[in-house]
Amino acid sequence: MRLNELNVGQKAVVVKILGHGAFRKRLIEMGFVKGKEITAVLSAPLRDPVKYSLMGYEVSLRHSEARLVEVAPVTDGSSRHRDSGAASLRTTSEPAVANDVYARASRTINVALIGNPNCGKTSLFNIASGAREHVGNYSGVTVEAKTGTFTHGGYKFNIVDLPGTYSLSSYSPEELYVRRYLRDETPDVIVNVVVASNLERNLYLTTELIDMDRSMVIALNMYDELKNSGQTLDYELLGSMIGVPMVPTVSKTGEGVDRLFDTIIRVYEGRDEQVRHVHVNLGDDIEGVLRGIIDIIKTDRSISQQFSPRYLAIKFMEQDREAEQLLAHSAFYEKLLQMRDNGRKEVERLRDEDLTSAIAAEKYGYIDGALAETIKGERTSSATRSTAIIDAFVTNRLFGIPLFLAVMFGIFWLTFSVGNYPMEWIESGVAWIGRQVGDLMAEGPLRDMICDGIIGGVGSVIVFLPNIMILYFCISFMEDSGYMARAAFIMDRAMHKIGLHGKSFIPLVMGFGCNVPAIMASRAIESRSSRLITILINPFISCSARLPIFLLLVGTFFSAHAALTFFALYALGVIMAIITAKLLRRFVWPTDETPFVMELPPYRVPTMKATLSHMWSKARQYLRKMGGIILVGCIIVWALNYFPRHDENNTATIAVETESIDPSSDSYLEMMGKAVNPVMKPLGFHWRATVAAIAGIPAKEIVVSTLGVLYTGDEEADDTTLGARLTTPPAPGAAPDFTPAAALAFMVFILLYCPCIATVVAVTKECGSWRYGLFSIVYNTMLAWITAFVIYRIAVMIL
Ligand code: GDP
Ligand code: MG
Repeated sequence: MRLNELNVGQKAVVVKILGHGAFRKRLIEMGFVKGKEITAVLSAPLRDPVKYSLMGYEVSLRHSEARLVEVAPVTDGSSRHRDSGAASLRTTSEPAVANDVYARASRTINVALIGNPNCGKTSLFNIASGAREHVGNYSGVTVEAKTGTFTHGGYKFNIVDLPGTYSLSSYSPEELYVRRYLRDETPDVIVNVVVASNLERNLYLTTELIDMDRSMVIALNMYDELKNSGQTLDYELLGSMIGVPMVPTVSKTGEGVDRLFDTIIRVYEGRDEQVRHVHVNLGDDIEGVLRGIIDIIKTDRSISQQFSPRYLAIKFMEQDREAEQLLAHSAFYEKLLQMRDNGRKEVERLRDEDLTSAIAAEKYGYIDGALAETIKGERTSSATRSTAIIDAFVTNRLFGIPLFLAVMFGIFWLTFSVGNYPMEWIESGVAWIGRQVGDLMAEGPLRDMICDGIIGGVGSVIVFLPNIMILYFCISFMEDSGYMARAAFIMDRAMHKIGLHGKSFIPLVMGFGCNVPAIMASRAIESRSSRLITILINPFISCSARLPIFLLLVGTFFSAHAALTFFALYALGVIMAIITAKLLRRFVWPTDETPFVMELPPYRVPTMKATLSHMWSKARQYLRKMGGIILVGCIIVWALNYFPRHDENNTATIAVETESIDPSSDSYLEMMGKAVNPVMKPLGFHWRATVAAIAGIPAKEIVVSTLGVLYTGDEEADDTTLGARLTTPPAPGAAPDFTPAAALAFMVFILLYCPCIATVVAVTKECGSWRYGLFSIVYNTMLAWITAFVIYRIAVMIL
């Protein structure tokens, strides 16, 4: 019975605390602990609240709260019955009686059967309880709950057969009934009955139950039909992925039913290893809105005691009437409505579909992904036909990978070749602005700073904006269309070879754009070790900030084999990522603890609006960096290069520096570069290259802008490109700073060395410890040095 049913003066023992989260925790903190004795002392005039005495002090609870405490009454009868005929009657202390009552009451497990219509719940109910309820091969047979009782494994089971439902929305009377039952009766363990041969539709209800965050076991019913169909299901793996143990059953014959109830006992006792609370990921946009709503719901205890905040928040987003009514009592209702409506608008604008369908699509995507990894054999998909047809090609065993490589090649081609045209326009535009400003302003340090420092430095980076926009456009298109998830899926096997999961593949591809959002996208990876490895190898994926360096140096030194050189550089980054992943998996995290689901959302043609808006939000970050860290970096580099000044004639051009010049005329930058250069000399670096590499630590774009500042060229030849200036010897007769071999070693070093500051910060934040950030800095720099050294030596011999 429940505590609220206790009459004044009656004694009882606490059996369990129902309800949820914070509310449940507070009751436990107040002393409502299993096995404790409690007495109803006094009831308020309106019977609410009621005062109880417990552990020697008194508390008052409202009826609605007391309803969530299950108790077993301690009657004189029960103690006499137990001790009848025993001499020890008088010595039986109160706690002993309490323990006994508690022990018997807590050995009762309340089980509710929930599932779609016609999945075999009533058959299971009959087999288990020995009842003779009517079964029928049509829906709507069970109109209300039937209860049965039996014992198994030393426990008494109260089992309830509920009406069949497809979901837990409040549309049909059956759904409402089931939902109220879950809210008011809070069964100890839910048995979700699913049809093994039609998991796709059946698991939808499961995702809603997962949102509810209740103890649950899945009965994989009609397993005989699945076996006959020739398919096989790795239900152990599937159960681990969704965090709910699965037991195959044939409820017509009773096969597997004993195992089902053994598993229920294990779950009830908290001993089952597969049990884990997972979040069915609904995509960044929806999750973002959800998080805000959940945070608010969590602050109101009276609400979250009935349903888990996540479930309520999702239902509220779906404009579910009951959820709205429940939340309407909260003081924050206005705020919640506003958050929801803004969020809705944003999601619907981006996805071009209403929020409720978007949530359903994400859930089906989750199910699809989980099944794709666990079902072998022909699978009849209930997903839309076009998705099935496209998937037949895209994830085909023969075409899948070549198609993916072709797509990647297409993206790089667009980025490098097509992007070149607007790049040239911007390049000449920047040069023109530089000349105009130079003509307008009077000679002096200010003009030098604006022309050489700011326009030269920032300009040399901004010219790559078109390439970066194209790359981002392609990545956004892949994400929005659903192809990215397939790419991850077909790469899953390959990723398993390096100890990762297909899901790690998405952050790696995103890394080609920028490592920072890519590292943040690794959050979706549920297993900790996989997530950490994915984050730590991400900096080796060459981001768009490194692109300008490659474009510059490849264009200058390897223009004959440009495509090949680009490909080799990117591939080198990927290879280093693979090696690092393997090492980490081998020596640091030898086992991957949790299997998880990779969502396969249905394909949709992305709206231009959504893709452009994703692209723009990424490009905006790039531009903002340009105005911030890169601008500041350029000015600092320029100033360090400009001062101290000794010779007015030798103004900003230190490019005329030769061996014969007095060392005291060195700029600060030159002194720094020369101090560090001995370390870098084995890689073929001139001090200017060393300076550029150091300057690139805040942001890798600064490498090129630093070269732009360092090689300003002379006044007359102002429109020579930076590439041409790099190959010009610093003085007549001297060797040029960059040889092809040195340029190659430089690119390799820049590719691999210490990630930019933003990336280090992201690594530290996402991994939860500065040690990982430090690891990135030290390990990557060492690896870069060694690799660049080897490549330089080889290149010197060959080139
Ligand atoms: P409910 O609507 O969920 O209560 O489902 P019922 O228990 O009424 O069963 C629906 C139909 O499925 C009945 O014809 C059952 O005989 C049949 N059925 C139930 N369990 C199984 C099973 O494990 N295998 C097979 N092949 N049929 C089953
Ligand atoms: Mg039934």
